[in-house]
Amino acid sequence: MIPLSYSDDMMVETSPSIKEKCASKGCMLKSPRIRIVIIVVVTAVLAIVIGFLIGYFVPKPRKEDSDEERKDMHDKFESLVSAEELERELRFFTSEPHVTGSKRHKTLIDHMETKWREYGFDVEIPEYQVLLSVPQVDQPNTVEILDNGVVKHTILGKINVTTKAEPKRSFPYFPFIAYAPPGDVEGELVYCNAGQEDDLLMLDRMNISVKDRIVLLKGHGAGVSAAAKRGAVGAILFVDPQSVAREGAGAKQTYPYTSWMSKQAVFSKAISQRNGDKLTPHIPAITGMYRLSRNETDLPSIPVQPISYEDASNLLNRLGGDEVPWDWRGTLNVTYRFGPGFTKPGTKVRLRVHNKLEVRSIYNVIGTMSGQEEPDRYVLVGNHRDAIFFGAADASSGSATLMEVARLLGELKNDGWRPRRTIKLCSWGAEEFGLIGSVEWVEEHSKLLMDRAVVYWNTDVAVGGNYVLIAQACPILAEAIFQRMKTINGPDKKTLYNSLLEKFSKSVDNPEEPWTIPYLFFSDYLPFYMSIGVPAADFSYFYGDEKNGMLLYPVYHTQEDSYYWIKKFVDPEFAYLSTMTKLIGGLALDFSDTAVLNFNVLRYAKAVKKSFKEIDVMMGSLNVSTTFVHHALEKFMKASTLFHSEKNKLAGDEGQLVLRRINDQMVRVERAFISPYLRLDDPMMQHVYSRNFQGKSFPGVIEAMERGNAAEVKKQLSLVAEAVLSAADIIRPVVSSKQGGK
Ligand SMILES: [Zn+2]
Repeated sequence: MIPLSYSDDMMVETSPSIKEKCASKGCMLKSPRIRIVIIVVVTAVLAIVIGFLIGYFVPKPRKEDSDEERKDMHDKFESLVSAEELERELRFFTSEPHVTGSKRHKTLIDHMETKWREYGFDVEIPEYQVLLSVPQVDQPNTVEILDNGVVKHTILGKINVTTKAEPKRSFPYFPFIAYAPPGDVEGELVYCNAGQEDDLLMLDRMNISVKDRIVLLKGHGAGVSAAAKRGAVGAILFVDPQSVAREGAGAKQTYPYTSWMSKQAVFSKAISQRNGDKLTPHIPAITGMYRLSRNETDLPSIPVQPISYEDASNLLNRLGGDEVPWDWRGTLNVTYRFGPGFTKPGTKVRLRVHNKLEVRSIYNVIGTMSGQEEPDRYVLVGNHRDAIFFGAADASSGSATLMEVARLLGELKNDGWRPRRTIKLCSWGAEEFGLIGSVEWVEEHSKLLMDRAVVYWNTDVAVGGNYVLIAQACPILAEAIFQRMKTINGPDKKTLYNSLLEKFSKSVDNPEEPWTIPYLFFSDYLPFYMSIGVPAADFSYFYGDEKNGMLLYPVYHTQEDSYYWIKKFVDPEFAYLSTMTKLIGGLALDFSDTAVLNFNVLRYAKAVKKSFKEIDVMMGSLNVSTTFVHHALEKFMKASTLFHSEKNKLAGDEGQLVLRRINDQMVRVERAFISPYLRLDDPMMQHVYSRNFQGKSFPGVIEAMERGNAAEVKKQLSLVAEAVLSAADIIRPVVSSKQGGK
């Protein structure tokens, strides 16, 4: 700034020639008019000089790249993707088990920090103290068959495993169900399919009680709460070869000879209703914060232990009782029966679980590359670092992708490129215990993120197969994802978009395009989307084939999810992982670098309207009027249509304030759907519209409808209407183009 009171003395001092002139020409300077002219001239010169200096040192708004320049940048990024680097990273991440809290886990954190700093990122490692559940190394869990009190057979919850790639190294694996309490129980066994409410009702109809008995449950999704409520004292879980060894369970038909799960493999998982730290819902689990007492949590109330399908076969083979219906059967070489109890009198099952609850530190790794023009707008890319055991597909394939994206952004930066917006790379801890790292980080920064986060891209199981690359996304992102997918060819030489269209279901409304996929699997994108309304998507190459279609990969959450499994059966050339890197990196560049964000609000409004029609017809006998919601939806449609056409007129060279306003409107539409009053079982779920895992939207309304509670339905509909009206408010053009609002 140039002060207006700039003194005459200073001017005279700095202008000796004028001073001299003054002396010779009889002090013309003493004339007030001349003095004013001189002040004006000198002020103008100084203003120009200072203006120049400011312009020189302050970053200049960059000319928006042309389509060609942008394509060059993407081409460069894609050409630098290295299959060797990806393989090296995957091998490093999976060379030892890296379960949350293990020593190996610390090595991986150090590795990420060092590399990311090398690539030009600033790195932070936030820590949280959270409730974990751990098996006891010196006291493995057991399932025993007792014959009149004498142990006849023991299934030990400890298996020695080698990596196969390095057969000489062996590691102990303790399969367990995290958060299942310790206990020593015995009783008759009852086979109970997946343990869902429907399954228990079937047992009721058969007059078979699970009270004081141990239930045997089938499938990855098996849950224990329905059986526990009816008095079961323990649960044993297994996955049937029906889903994980579809070509037969013989030794040569499964891992390590094929990609199907072997009879020795055991899957582990965590069971809990809530995501995030179990003791600090809504609050970040940092030192000093209030914590629930253990009996205020919703953790399982009975001991649970997983076993292999070979061991399950041994139990099923002994079961008495009637044969189960066809849809309860699997493909083990036994007659599947209900029980209760074994055919031989006096035989029982004993289950001993020694899991311990412990509060331990977990860590995220956050790498930041600051944006040049909009450093306060964040594009987030994330993946979880922890594993069930070696965790190659889940989620080290995603970690390798994240490392390669980091390396290539570093390469672009070395060439002088800077993103327009800030890019944050996020490596989460303790995802396998219920998304703990990401939920706690979102809780800690929710206010900031609601202001600054633009989008969150996630990859968990980046490569769990080579059948088709699936995007789980919210409607506002679908177009941006499809556009990027149309530019990238997979290893089959087809664009990712065409493969998706061919192998996954087509949209009902528009058969020319793939279905916009609901969220199928829990991963770290959920807290961003569900709690704070950040548009988010998850990407995964799925397992499958022409015969079976798309499948969950067979060795999921077992000791067989290894580097060897990926290298041998899924991605020997690392071509699929390379393709995934191109997609995630491409989307990170799209959203961190273009002036106008590629959100499609009109598509969003249409999707919300269509989903609402679907649930409206289900209202049936509840006799609740939905007219007011339809009116709100019409307002949202109208505002979005108007906004969409205004946005299409933008050239990208509008002033920074105009661009910021337009972008913020789009980003904030998603926030409009967040309501703290939704109150579902999981406090993380606060998105009024969010599609659930069955593809159904409006979870609050659906839950209330299922309970047949008309008053609650009306309340939930009101939350929907309020959210939709807010979205319409936000997206309505702030200034019309007629008023020169561009
Ligand atoms: Zn995972």
